[in-house]
Amino acid sequence: MKKTLIALLTLTATAAGAQTPENAQRLIDAYPDMHLTYNDNKIVFPDGTAITYDDGKKKDFKTLLDYSDIEDMFSMTYDTAAGKPGYLEDCGRSRNEALFRKMYGNSAAEVQKNLVRIDWFGQQLPVTKVNGANKQLRAICNELKNKPELKKYLLKASSFNWRQVRGANRMSAHSYGIAVDINVANSDYWLWKNPGKQETDSIKYANRIPMEIVRVFEKHGFIWGGRWYHYDTMHFEYRPEILNK
Ligand SMILES: [Zn+2]
Repeated sequence: MKKTLIALLTLTATAAGAQTPENAQRLIDAYPDMHLTYNDNKIVFPDGTAITYDDGKKKDFKTLLDYSDIEDMFSMTYDTAAGKPGYLEDCGRSRNEALFRKMYGNSAAEVQKNLVRIDWFGQQLPVTKVNGANKQLRAICNELKNKPELKKYLLKASSFNWRQVRGANRMSAHSYGIAVDINVANSDYWLWKNPGKQETDSIKYANRIPMEIVRVFEKHGFIWGGRWYHYDTMHFEYRPEILNK
């Protein structure tokens, strides 16, 4: 009798406790305004919307980007100490589209409802207020504005644009109002330096953005495209779950 009871209790505890994976918890903690929970391999929103956490599929580099589940978003390394990114280290380029559409808006019009304009080095830059991204960008601006030597990198920025990634079948982070491209004049993009190269080819790295700028963005939850093997050094994107280790 006693043994049966203990066995039963153990079973119940295992089922109820169905442990939240570490990276699911990172996601939940990074977006407190969303009030997300984890249950039975799903990330669940308060309105009942549930998105699969791990689809169980093995993916090569391209499918990891094109068909990312939430778990895949954490499959690469974002190394804030690295001098330049390792081969195919593109941490942050994998985005689960259902998750981002649910958080920020499922159409251009829906995303636009959440956009606010912030003063950004002489221009009004639209950015989403969802998850407090606008507040973080304002804090970044406040930290950088006292450094006139950095201004030339920061002005002529662009942000919201409901569009797909160049040459791919997935939405750009710019669609959600969470991404900022700083001045293109001082930026490098992997395909400009390596024309005709495929995503799995070896490529040459280039960057002219001062790390001082990068560190301020990262401090406020924005990842930098210059830490991607497929670098895009003008690109910053609000992804606190990646930086929140
Ligand atoms: Zn960009």
